[in-house]
Amino acid sequence: MRSLSEKIAGIPPSATIEISNAAKRMAQEGIDVISLSIGEPDFDTPEHIKNACIDALRRGETHYAPSAGIPELTGAIAEKITRENGFSVKQDEVIVTCGAKDAIYEAMEAVLNPGDEVLILDPSWVSYEPCARIAGASARHHTLSPATFQVDDTLLSAVGPRTRMIVVNSPSNPSGAVLNMDSLRLIADVCRDHDIFALSDEIYEKLVYGKTPVSIASLPDMAERTITVNGFSKAYAMTGWRIGYAVAPRPVIRQMEKVQQHTISHPTTFAMFGAVAALEGSQECVESMRREFERRRDYIIPALRDLGYATAPADGAFYAYVDVGGDDMATPTWRSPRGRRSAPPAGSGSPTRRRWRTSKRPSGG
Ligand code: PLP
Repeated sequence: MRSLSEKIAGIPPSATIEISNAAKRMAQEGIDVISLSIGEPDFDTPEHIKNACIDALRRGETHYAPSAGIPELTGAIAEKITRENGFSVKQDEVIVTCGAKDAIYEAMEAVLNPGDEVLILDPSWVSYEPCARIAGASARHHTLSPATFQVDDTLLSAVGPRTRMIVVNSPSNPSGAVLNMDSLRLIADVCRDHDIFALSDEIYEKLVYGKTPVSIASLPDMAERTITVNGFSKAYAMTGWRIGYAVAPRPVIRQMEKVQQHTISHPTTFAMFGAVAALEGSQECVESMRREFERRRDYIIPALRDLGYATAPADGAFYAYVDVGGDDMATPTWRSPRGRRSAPPAGSGSPTRRRWRTSKRPSGG
């Protein structure tokens, strides 16, 4: 075969998706498998959101849409951010994407150049570094203290002359940590002093337990250098809909829009109408799913600690990040006492291999 792209050949597959695929294959083979991999709510999308999408389909919303997304949705997102996140956003500073993941990829394509570095705070989600590398940049990792999973002064030594972006993910996948104001101020100082973009992945903002996440774009002079990413997958149980968004200064959005125009054009038109209903309808569905995740967290975290395992705080998101003292990826399958097999939980971001991160998805106590 002719040689293939070296850039893509050097990028690992997504550990979470590979493991999820393996679990799905095992289930198809009739194996009773519990997948501890991908971060996916086990709830169905709320009815009023599904109905809004079905109505849109029936009305004939089956055509191309504006490349930044339907105005009903970009408008609702601008209002949501201005109302809830402490900084104001105009409609033309919003782009709707195919999930938050696509927003992260497009943001990196929009601002990075070959030779630039993206600073990633570990433990981190699996796709930040691959997205940076696909965009032609490289990643530098800075490990947060496992005692707090907060940012301290050591961040300063991690910033190099080529650092162009810092990825902020609060609440974090996998640690569940919610960054406190000291951490956010430190990151903001570094961004201002070194003229660096913050890419703030806020996909878990609604799933918090006793903590209030703060958008870094709301700190002084940060809106002009922050790309805020969010979406519908986690808060509204809409993983399969593939709708996310980014909010950023107009020149960045314009660059992202060009990437979108030449690749996906825009997310699925009728699905975007469901997302409008998600933002404009009652938020009780979000709160009831949050309460159920909290109930599971309140069970699993103390139970793991009682068994002698150190766990990260799990103040947000829906993961248990547990120190098991081994290499999770070296464990192909586990067998439970009842004969069930589980795909291994996904390792997230080097150098966290000795820990595993498992989605607190299985229901029940
Ligand atoms: N960011 C983080 C931290 C995630 O954990 C995930 C999904 O697991 C995503 C982004 C992607 O979300 P979406 O399904 O909206 O693309």
